[in-house]
Amino acid sequence: MLREDAMAGLSRGLTTTERIIVKELKEQGVLKHVDGHRLSLEKGVISCFCADCDRSADIYAHQQGIVREQCKDPRIHMLADNGGPLLITKNSPANKVGRTRDIDFLDSIAFAIEKKGIQTVALIGHAICGVALEREIGLLRTIALILCAKSRIKQDLKRLDPKVACFYHVDYGEFATDPSRPMKTYFIDKHEFARTFPSQHIFTA
Ligand SMILES: [Zn+2]
Repeated sequence: MLREDAMAGLSRGLTTTERIIVKELKEQGVLKHVDGHRLSLEKGVISCFCADCDRSADIYAHQQGIVREQCKDPRIHMLADNGGPLLITKNSPANKVGRTRDIDFLDSIAFAIEKKGIQTVALIGHAICGVALEREIGLLRTIALILCAKSRIKQDLKRLDPKVACFYHVDYGEFATDPSRPMKTYFIDKHEFARTFPSQHIFTA
């Protein structure tokens, strides 16, 4: 099945409006160039991202790139499921009511920290995500949910002292400047997001 055919059912590319939102998020400093040196990656990383078969390889490759700068044999403990970090926030609209996926995901992260000795957790959301589409979670709310997931991990797993970094992967598709490299991963600046979108910063862990 062609990528375009598969994506028509599960996902789609950015709309013109979403492309403008991404551009503004970059200009506002919410989405930043990733500087892997600012993260503690010498023991590897626990990477939580969406299982999306059309984007997960690019997301993984980026994680591998930043970890390799500090860890010769990149240790990437991958926790991938549909929706990725959207599943972690308490009462997330990405989860069905009455399920325990948020707690189960937290358990998986705790297990990885304890058994593998990796303190750094990467939460990587993405546009466009099929789960976000199905649950009508827009770009800004996606970022808010990722930041809330960070707060929850820091709070609920405090005993393990995790370091949590948030990223946003964008598939520019037809809007790509370089068609051979249509996808890019950005760092999410929590403080810039809270400053720029105070009304979005209402989610609590
Ligand atoms: Zn997704």
